Amino acid sequence: MKTKIAVFLMVVMAWGMAMGQGSLAPPPAAHPKVVIFYSVGIEYDHLLFAQQALQFFTANANKDKYTLVATTDWNQLNDEFLKDVKVMVWLDDEVHSQAQRDAFEKYMEGGGAWLGFHVSAYNDRSSKWTWFRSFLGGGAFGLNNWPPLPAKLVVEDTTSPVTKRLPQSFEAPSNEWYSWTPSPRLDPNVKVLISLDKSNFPIGIKDVIPPTDVPVVWTNTKYKMLYLNMGHGDKIFTSDEQKNLIEDGLQWLLSRQQAATGK
Ligand code: ZN
Repeated sequence: MKTKIAVFLMVVMAWGMAMGQGSLAPPPAAHPKVVIFYSVGIEYDHLLFAQQALQFFTANANKDKYTLVATTDWNQLNDEFLKDVKVMVWLDDEVHSQAQRDAFEKYMEGGGAWLGFHVSAYNDRSSKWTWFRSFLGGGAFGLNNWPPLPAKLVVEDTTSPVTKRLPQSFEAPSNEWYSWTPSPRLDPNVKVLISLDKSNFPIGIKDVIPPTDVPVVWTNTKYKMLYLNMGHGDKIFTSDEQKNLIEDGLQWLLSRQQAATGK
């Protein structure tokens, strides 16, 4: 028995040396890199969300097999930094310069993946970055409710990997909801996954969104992207449904990157 083990070890060691490796075990596959861009000098309720989201994604990194990098330096949004980034997350802020806009556009057109929350998609009729608006499905910011309020959400497709753990409708905790003009639903490339239920309308007290189509979570199928309107205040992660949605949204983007690159 001892002889057999010794022979086996010699064979294994010879194989290891033949492979030119000091170690017999293959190096562990690196987890895909996810980078979070966020800011601190933003509206307080947006900062609260960003901080909680940061904790949430950090806590899930091992279990969900990704390496997380978080930065408040948006100048890192450049070709060099992004070359091994599988998914980029924007927590309640967006790019600040033409160089960053160019780098983002190039990253997405080159097969990058993006997960954006709440005000990250803000653009209005004065915005000159037309690529970004069409990336989002063509809608400019329309109206918001104020104060932030809970809302009943309709899950329009429960078969998507993003929404597979959700019921057909659920009560979302307090958020500032945005409408978009025109609705991104009108873009044939957009797939709306979640929207505000009609029973919410009119929603708001000081500022009111009247009855209209309000998509809340969607993807533009031309890109590996997912937008979630959630992201205002410290209640977003009090909902198990929303925690599942946010976790599965990132996992969906990672799995698409894996399918595309085999890594
Ligand atoms: Zn907000």
